[in-house]
Amino acid sequence: MKYRYLGKTGIQVSELSFGSWVTFHNQADVSLAQNMMAAAYDAGVNFFDNAEVYAGGKSEQVMGDALKKLKWRRGSYLVSTKFYWGLNNGINEKNTLNRKRLIEGMNGSLERLQLDYVDLVYCHRPDPTTPIEETVWAMHNLIEWGKALYWGTSEWAASEIIEAIQIAERHHLHKPVVEQPQYNMFERKRMEGDYVRFYKEYGYGTTTWSPLASGLLSGKYQGGIPKDSRGALKGYEWLRDKLTDEGKLAKVNGLEPIVKELGCTLSQLALAWCLKNPFVSTVITGASRVEQVHENMKAADVADKVTAEIMERIDAVFGVKKEEEEE
Ligand code: NDP
Repeated sequence: MKYRYLGKTGIQVSELSFGSWVTFHNQADVSLAQNMMAAAYDAGVNFFDNAEVYAGGKSEQVMGDALKKLKWRRGSYLVSTKFYWGLNNGINEKNTLNRKRLIEGMNGSLERLQLDYVDLVYCHRPDPTTPIEETVWAMHNLIEWGKALYWGTSEWAASEIIEAIQIAERHHLHKPVVEQPQYNMFERKRMEGDYVRFYKEYGYGTTTWSPLASGLLSGKYQGGIPKDSRGALKGYEWLRDKLTDEGKLAKVNGLEPIVKELGCTLSQLALAWCLKNPFVSTVITGASRVEQVHENMKAADVADKVTAEIMERIDAVFGVKKEEEEE
C-alpha cells in the first residue's frame, strides 16, 4: 500500500481506504464489518470513512463496536464522520449545518463510535440556509475542542469552498482541507474540472467516493441485477436505473479487452483508474464481503500497469476527449 498526503496537510492516508455507506448494518453485522476492516487494515488501509446518516446512525455503532474488538492502536488509523441530513425531523435538526446541529451531531457520533475524537469531519453537503461563516466557526470549534482533527466538505460547489477558506483565513480559524466528491469513470466532472484549482492553489485534498459507481464497474450488472447485490437491496430502488442503463453497461463491456490484457478484474481496473489521478488523496472503497476487500486491495498493484496509452483507451471507451494540456 502506498500513502499520499491529504492535500497540503501533514497527515498521510492510504491510497485505498474503506467506507461503510450502505453496507454496515444493512449488509454487514459487527462481525463481518470487523473482518472486512481487518482485511483492509492488514492490506495497509489507515482510513475508515463513515457518516452520521449512514443506516440512521447504526453504521457508526457497527464501526464503533468493530473498532473496540479490533483493539488497534488509535494512532494507527483515521476515522471520519459527516453531517448534514441529521437523524431527526425537528426544525433545526435536518438538512442543516447550523452550529447547534453540528455540535450536537458530533457528540452523538463520538458516542456511537466510542471514540474521543474523529480524525476527519465533513460537511456532507452544502447548506444554503446557514451562513457559511456560522458553519466555519462551528467546525473550527470542534477542532479546537479536540473532537475532530481536520475538517472538510463533500460535494460543495467550488465557490462555496473558496468562501469557507476565505472566512477561515480572515478570522485565523482552522480551514477546510479536504473535499469528498464522487469520482469514477462515469463521474469525472468535478474532480477533473471545477476542483482542479483547489488542489493547485489551496492544496485541498480529496477522499473520493463510489469508485465502482456502486458496483456497476465491477461488471456484476452485465446480466441483470444479481439477488445478492446492492442493486437488489430494499430502499435502493433509485439506483436500479443507473445499474441497468444499457449505454453504461456497454461502456463497462468495452473495458473487457483491457482487463484481459492486464490480467486483472474490472473492479481492480476501475479502482486503479481512480488512483492514476494525482489529485486523489485516497479512493474510498466499499464492500459487502471480505473477498471483495481482498480483490479490491490488489488494485494498487494494477495501477502500476495502467499506462498513459491504456488511460487513453479507457477515455475512448467512455467517449471522453481530453483537451491538450497547456504548457
Ligand atoms: P463503490 O462504488 O466501490 O461500491 C461498493 C459496492 O460495490 C460494494 O458494497 C459491493 O456491493 C460492490 N463491490 C465492491 N467491490 C466489488 C468487487 N470486487 N466485485 C463485485 N462487487 C463489488 O463504493 P461505495 O458507493 O460503497 O462508496 C465507497 C464509500 O464512499 C462509502 O462507503 C462511503 O464511505 C463513501 N461515500 C461518500 C458519499 C458522500 O456523499 N460523501 C456518498 C457515497 C459514498 P454489493 O456486493 O452489495 O453489490
